[in-house]
Amino acid sequence: MAADISKMKALAKQTYNALSTEFPDSTCSLDYDCPQNLAIRGILSAQCTDKRVNITASDLFAKYPDMDKIASEDPEVIASIIKPCGLTASKTRSVMTFARKMTEEWNGTVPNDVDLLMEVPGIGRKIANLIVGEIYGTPAVVVDTHCKRVMKRIGITDSSDPAKVEKDIMKFFPEEQWISIGHLSVDLGRKYCTAKSPKCDECPLKSFCKRRI
Ligand code: SF4
Repeated sequence: MAADISKMKALAKQTYNALSTEFPDSTCSLDYDCPQNLAIRGILSAQCTDKRVNITASDLFAKYPDMDKIASEDPEVIASIIKPCGLTASKTRSVMTFARKMTEEWNGTVPNDVDLLMEVPGIGRKIANLIVGEIYGTPAVVVDTHCKRVMKRIGITDSSDPAKVEKDIMKFFPEEQWISIGHLSVDLGRKYCTAKSPKCDECPLKSFCKRRI
């Protein structure tokens, strides 16, 4: 077992080195200029592209720069603005609940607490980890669809269950890499390791990827 773990840690190290060399400027693909804006962008990102989220969220924040203004607005007005991101009813409920908690419970500060953040409907573990990792630098792994896919293909995990993938990443990558490995996985998944027809011949991981060798 110990030998397996050291083998997996070596694979993780090889993966991290190759990815950080290929994507030296890797970063969060959601724009944000303050913690609450990242949280709301995270809520809007469910089943929506980052590009669409960034445009729609900018429209929302241009009209409502403060959380209390969102919290006190008619939900139908908020819904009409965020509609381009889809899942309008549930996202409206989430955005308004988040804005209300910010105003009434959290004294205007986004909590550095995954469990508290997950009290907001629409903020699951992935988004909560993104928030605490990006804003506070709290070690946390964001397992999105790209991360789930590439980690399984590389051989870091044998599961497609995000909770298990998160655990495997935490087991094999050092804590200081947890935040960036999520961003790097997204970069790899978009450029080479696409869901359909991955570009293995050009991939920087081709010499050791489990799916490839
Ligand atoms: S070699 Fe292919 S399957 Fe493996 S990570 Fe690269 S693109 Fe994905």
